[in-house]
Amino acid sequence: MIKQWMLATWALVGIALPVQARPPNILYIMADDHATNAISAYGSHLTSVFKTPHIDRLAREGIRMDRTYCVNAICTPSRASILTGQYGHVNGVKTLADPLPPEAINVAGLLRAGGYETVLFGKWHLKTEPFGFDYWKVGPGQGKYHNPSFKEIGTPYAGRKGGKVASGYYTDLVTDYALDWLKGRATSKPFALFLHHKAPHGKWEPAKRHRDFLEEVDLPEPDSLWENFDHRSPASRNYGTSISHRLADRRNMIDDVSSTRWPTARIDMQGLTEKEQTRAAYQKYVKDYLRCVKAVDENVGRVLDYLDQAGLAANTLVVYTSDQGMFLGEHDYFDKRWIYEEAFRMPFMARLPGTIPAGITTDALCANIDFAPTLLSYAGLPVPDAMQGRSFRRILETGKKPDTWRTALYYRYWMHLAGHHIPGHFGVRTDRYKLIFFHGLPLGSSGAIDRATPPGWELYDLQKDPREIRNVYPNPEYKALSKQLKRELLRIKAAFGDSDAAYPELQAVTARHWE
Ligand code: CA
Repeated sequence: MIKQWMLATWALVGIALPVQARPPNILYIMADDHATNAISAYGSHLTSVFKTPHIDRLAREGIRMDRTYCVNAICTPSRASILTGQYGHVNGVKTLADPLPPEAINVAGLLRAGGYETVLFGKWHLKTEPFGFDYWKVGPGQGKYHNPSFKEIGTPYAGRKGGKVASGYYTDLVTDYALDWLKGRATSKPFALFLHHKAPHGKWEPAKRHRDFLEEVDLPEPDSLWENFDHRSPASRNYGTSISHRLADRRNMIDDVSSTRWPTARIDMQGLTEKEQTRAAYQKYVKDYLRCVKAVDENVGRVLDYLDQAGLAANTLVVYTSDQGMFLGEHDYFDKRWIYEEAFRMPFMARLPGTIPAGITTDALCANIDFAPTLLSYAGLPVPDAMQGRSFRRILETGKKPDTWRTALYYRYWMHLAGHHIPGHFGVRTDRYKLIFFHGLPLGSSGAIDRATPPGWELYDLQKDPREIRNVYPNPEYKALSKQLKRELLRIKAAFGDSDAAYPELQAVTARHWE
């Protein structure tokens, strides 16, 4: 491994080290809202009809991580946690509206200072102008799928509008930009290329070449599409946005997508039973989603092919991940935000030939706050104490977790009832169990809706119930375990410095519900 002083000296004198002494290039590919259930390497109810051969290459030639999670399953906060290695209550980005302070720790800036050339293409989705990059070209806000606009370094970033309109499909365009940059880059430094796809974030607009993809296929349904919510606590039972609720909503995705895109895509719900409506909405939603994933997969293939052709594959750490997961009809949900597995869990695959063994997997509990420390570790750079995550480099290279690895992970969603009507909650996940506390209170944080909901607990035994369709919190057999996990939840919450000192009312609710 290259030592810090070597890298610093090399950067100082501006000469290239011999190839073998250089740390690896880093190609960090991140999709938006890409669920593990929509990646065939992970296997799911969709795998028989939908494959991602190019993304799967990374799992076949590297490691597939099976228990990697985000600490807050919503876009902007997860992205801030990835960059800073910190929870939202530390880096300041708890909600979609919070800006990441420019003085925040940023893995891109640290890599740059450590001798890397750092570039970003695609979706940024932070309120703050990109920083820490030698060059960036990003779509403002969510960006558009077709003929999107892009802003680049040196031009004004602020605002959701503006930028220069490009002709083409977002997923293809950002890959073109990344490949053009790779072809023209100076080779004196290792690169850290952040390639951030907009897809498959809604509203789902496939490339024209994929508009009929899967048209004749009847997608298998997840079991939990038909979940009976009686097992849920009142804190979650009547919240969230289900596919069928969405149909009744004036802003529903079916109308939105069809009316702005393919006029023939509107689903005629006339005369359908409620169950048939859910079924039709599921097919429509997931097909459009997978069509968007299809373009991502093809473009991952283009980049991997280029690395092969250019002789870069051997010395480039390639990562594929997403900013969080996504419900594809599981629990009759779409969107994310909940701590339930499909939203909470992130895909994560990594390849570095000769260093990361091919075809291994791990079930070590890892998180998005670990990404920055891990990348720094590969760069031979120190991990700042202020980062709360840990490098999982050893896990990538062995598939095994060290004895000292974490046994529990802390999660928190802050935006009480904002967007998709999901109540604020925090919880802990261990290898086997998940305990969730829905606090029921708006916290005055940006995006929270000022309406209380019932507080409540849920407990899932993930070994017996991986789909989380049987809340066992009320079960007397689990009472002792619940108490133990409550203690663990408080311990881990405090260990990460999430004190709720600013919310005395919440502290009172928490105290009342802890026994
Ligand atoms: Ca996202």
